[in-house]
Amino acid sequence: MALFKNLFSKPLSVQLTVTSNNGFHLRPVAQFASLAKSFSCQVTATFKDTTVDTKSVNTLLSLSLEKGDTFTLVTRGKKANEALQKLQLLFWTLMQSDKEIRQIEKTVHRYEGSIVEGEIISEGIAIASVYNYSTKEVQHKSDMDFKEALHKSMDELETLYAIQKEEDNAGIYLAQRELLSSLGSESQSLARLEERIKEESKKLLGSKLDSKRSDYQDILQRVKKHLGLEIQITFPDTPFILLCRDLLPGEIDNLLRTKVAGVILKETSIHSHTAILLRAAGICSLVADTTKLTQNETVILDAHSGVVVRTPSSNDTEKATEHLEQAVAQKALSATKRFKPALTTHGKHIKVFANVADISSAKTAKDEGAEGIGLLRSEFLFKAVKPSLEKQQKAYKEIFDIFNDITVRTLDVGGDKALPYIQIPTEENPFLGVRGVRLFRTHPELLEEQLHAIFLAAQNRPIKIMFPMVSTVEEFTKTKSFAQNVAKKHQIDISHIRFGIMIEVPSVLFLLEAFDAVVDFYSIGTNDLTQYLFAIERTHPLLKADALSPVVFSAIETITKQTTKPVSICGELAGNRDAIPKLLSLGIETMSVSPKSIAQTKEEIRNV
Ligand code: PEP
Ligand code: MG
Repeated sequence: MALFKNLFSKPLSVQLTVTSNNGFHLRPVAQFASLAKSFSCQVTATFKDTTVDTKSVNTLLSLSLEKGDTFTLVTRGKKANEALQKLQLLFWTLMQSDKEIRQIEKTVHRYEGSIVEGEIISEGIAIASVYNYSTKEVQHKSDMDFKEALHKSMDELETLYAIQKEEDNAGIYLAQRELLSSLGSESQSLARLEERIKEESKKLLGSKLDSKRSDYQDILQRVKKHLGLEIQITFPDTPFILLCRDLLPGEIDNLLRTKVAGVILKETSIHSHTAILLRAAGICSLVADTTKLTQNETVILDAHSGVVVRTPSSNDTEKATEHLEQAVAQKALSATKRFKPALTTHGKHIKVFANVADISSAKTAKDEGAEGIGLLRSEFLFKAVKPSLEKQQKAYKEIFDIFNDITVRTLDVGGDKALPYIQIPTEENPFLGVRGVRLFRTHPELLEEQLHAIFLAAQNRPIKIMFPMVSTVEEFTKTKSFAQNVAKKHQIDISHIRFGIMIEVPSVLFLLEAFDAVVDFYSIGTNDLTQYLFAIERTHPLLKADALSPVVFSAIETITKQTTKPVSICGELAGNRDAIPKLLSLGIETMSVSPKSIAQTKEEIRNV
């Protein structure tokens, strides 16, 4: 029926021109395809004589659109007009916001040894022996079939995207997820997926998108790992400089757990996802001709000057060592400081907690110096299938074991967050619809099971539970008594558990006196609060509310002045260096930020 409608309705079209210097590359293409997929109408793009379906990342990518190219976007069928408008807006925004990756300028060097020139990926200096990339295949036991492995891999990529949304490299995971989703939907077996990946990679060979071939290999390895076939890289246990043709983006994380001093890649570009992740990880690296280097020879990798120094003279080594020692001392200083409490210049301790989504981000938060968890976004714990009570209890317990001070938010689904196993009827305005705590009116069994699991995992720990999107006092009191009844039913003592709310809905600002009489604490969610104060959807492609507007600070001041209960802040504003002094002056004493922002947030606080 939909096909019929699409075939016989009038097509709508618009001409779009690529204006970003990077072209229409994988990350923006993935966002575009993801939006196109949300419409049931046909959405195609025509460039020169080729027409492709834009709902599939790899077909859209195959147009190889570069700066200055104009293509025709055509929509046909149900909501064709809306699709055209929204995709056009998104395309313009993607073009405008696509940051150009510039070549890092090289400093002049005066080395006496022989030099191999390269291009800088990520700045730094290393002196170590070189080690050629080598792998071994390891077989694990796995109970998953191909489809399960595929879903598990997509789920992991979605979580990686969701928890790093605030960072520059998050788009890589969305792009890989979209690639896997389109190739996976065409494949019924691992062999077929491998075949498709081979075909698609072949098309990119020698093209401007050549370096994206490693993304294809990366997603394949992710699926294979879940099927029990893992390719492991072997690393020496002394410091080394890794030599490699190219690395897969997914391998960078493993590298961080080794004694890697630097990386030299032969065939990548400074724009590749591997390069972006090497920069994000701060690993000193170059693109250079590795064939000239031999296993175990000691070299200087100077990724400020963009050179590898072979057979360095004693002068070269002395200079490089001095440079390296300075960098190591600087790094050690900020690393140890991240575990120290953040005291303002007046000696006031401001607690810096983390916003986490699962066990892995909780562990990262610990390593980054978080003093607790200010927001556990529980909706990201189980994204593909509904978990059993036991699975939930185990996941919560693992996280509760890491920190003493933990605030868990009950499921916050609806609006921009969906879970495949929770059905919410389609709404015209989902951000104003069944979201957060409102979901439990229609799905009380979900809340019951979640609370039961949290109570069992908490045992005697004094954890905090908060409800999202609360807009009236009654909503809170009803949900809290529901929780008490769950505890009673299962005979669990929850006298040590405190209950609070997220402040995300402006109505709460006018009800603080009444809320104060019933809640134990508040956590301000500035992401949603700002959205609702300005009536601008937080995911809108064109409109953007000013996160640093005096209106937002005035709302926070209203809260801190009127309430006698503890208030923390867990929206993105807490990690914004321009906001921190103001937030402290308004009396905020606990901030919860993304794990990667902890050290920097503490440093900012120390300057206030
Ligand atoms: C917020 O709204 O500020 C918040 C922290 O919650 P989320 O971003 O998960 O909606
Ligand atoms: Mg929110």
